[in-house]
Amino acid sequence: MSLQPTQASLGELAQALANKTISSVELTSLFLERCERLNPQLNAFITLDREKTLAQARSADARLAAGESGPLLGIPLAYKDIFCMRGWLTTCGSKMLANFVAPYDATVIEKFNTAGSVCLGKTNMDEFAMGSSNETSYYGAVKNPWDTTAVPGGSSGGSAAAVAARLAPAATGTDTGGSIRQPAALTNLTGLKPSYGRVSRYGMIAFASSLDQGGPMARTAEDAALLLNVMAGFDARDSTSVEAPVPDYTQTLNGDIKGLRIGLPKEYFSEGLTKDVAQAVEAAIGEYKKLGAQVVEVSLPNSQLAIPCYYVLAPAEASSNLSRFDGVRYGYRAPEYTDLLDMYCKTRAQGFGPEVKRRIMIGTYALSAGYYDAYYLKALKLRRLIAQDFQAAFEKCDVIMGPTSPSTAFKIGAKSDDPVAMYLSDIYTISVNLAGLPGMSIPAGFDPAGLPVGLQLIGKYFDEPRLLNVAHRYQQVTDWHHRTPKGFE
Ligand code: GLN
Repeated sequence: MSLQPTQASLGELAQALANKTISSVELTSLFLERCERLNPQLNAFITLDREKTLAQARSADARLAAGESGPLLGIPLAYKDIFCMRGWLTTCGSKMLANFVAPYDATVIEKFNTAGSVCLGKTNMDEFAMGSSNETSYYGAVKNPWDTTAVPGGSSGGSAAAVAARLAPAATGTDTGGSIRQPAALTNLTGLKPSYGRVSRYGMIAFASSLDQGGPMARTAEDAALLLNVMAGFDARDSTSVEAPVPDYTQTLNGDIKGLRIGLPKEYFSEGLTKDVAQAVEAAIGEYKKLGAQVVEVSLPNSQLAIPCYYVLAPAEASSNLSRFDGVRYGYRAPEYTDLLDMYCKTRAQGFGPEVKRRIMIGTYALSAGYYDAYYLKALKLRRLIAQDFQAAFEKCDVIMGPTSPSTAFKIGAKSDDPVAMYLSDIYTISVNLAGLPGMSIPAGFDPAGLPVGLQLIGKYFDEPRLLNVAHRYQQVTDWHHRTPKGFE
């Protein structure tokens, strides 16, 4: 059978590279050509750099010619523009970093470089990863390849659009409150947010450090497992990195799921969930029953408090993390100012967009003397209760399932003037970050308008092997994940 690179799995691409059916330069050029031709329709990439990309592909070919092999050697991937990559513009979607060329590699990038993957480009994202629609980017909104008048989700919207439109075989994302899972759901991808501490945050521009996690965005669970094999692992440069062995995530994909106990949180199937999403999710659960799984009802009583809790904690951490952008050492500096204080003020007033400023103000307020106990401390206590809800639920089940997002992709502009409506789009994903658990979104059907629906899987700490297994078994009996948006086949 002839190789069709845009539809091939990572395993098939690696096979073709190993057989010399195709070289990395040929494969990379094919994807680069698609990126250059189709990106103007989607705005999925902030940076494409043909020279640098092809140089990496040539060195992968040299390694292949020397007899080396590896699951990702020579395979082109797209990286969210939040990961520092030496010599590459790394903007985090902000004017503040529009001139920032990273002097070092993030650990995740270093690991992909060692594995021999090729960087196709840096993908668009919400500014400093704050958003659910990719509309807060300084570089403009990303369009959803399933409907270019709709958002692709966010904040990893560029990575999602690029993989969904077959501009890249797979990509990286980051997830602080849903930014891998929600865009995966809105673009028909498989996205995995690992357990907190599983993937190093070193060199990943910080938004809310106690919540941020990098992870894979791919078409299938099998591909996501291959990426996670490379991304995961202890890193002494990240103080919250967990020193636990990394299993081979591809080894357990085929495990039997007969008897699997699926917990359905009653709070996830109530008010706010659209009918189309509810129907697709219920049908997916039905598939699991056919595979031998059993369903139990569980309760996450504090889940409606996850959004207020997150919107105290995440802005508090962001206000501290973003204090480094002051125009002194790197990044944007206001061209005119009278003295140092004026330089700080103008730099930050001009360099940050409105959503980032809103978060800095909320966070600074919540952390200020007199309000700290009332807001920040209260939110920390709530966070513990939310984590305990999951612990209690996992006494009764092995995996929790529900919708990833309450609706399918919404129109560009539909929520951009209403921050609270936008914040509500993460109602099902945020509590997973607050608890530090692994979560996944997998393709589970389409609404009548032809827009994809995502099924969310939530696991116990470090139970990524089971999530990938449960996702893979579903993908063996369904074909949603193979569907390609029209015009991007
Ligand atoms: N949409 C959420 C926010 O705006 C989550 C973003 C993320 O996961 N990076 O904060």
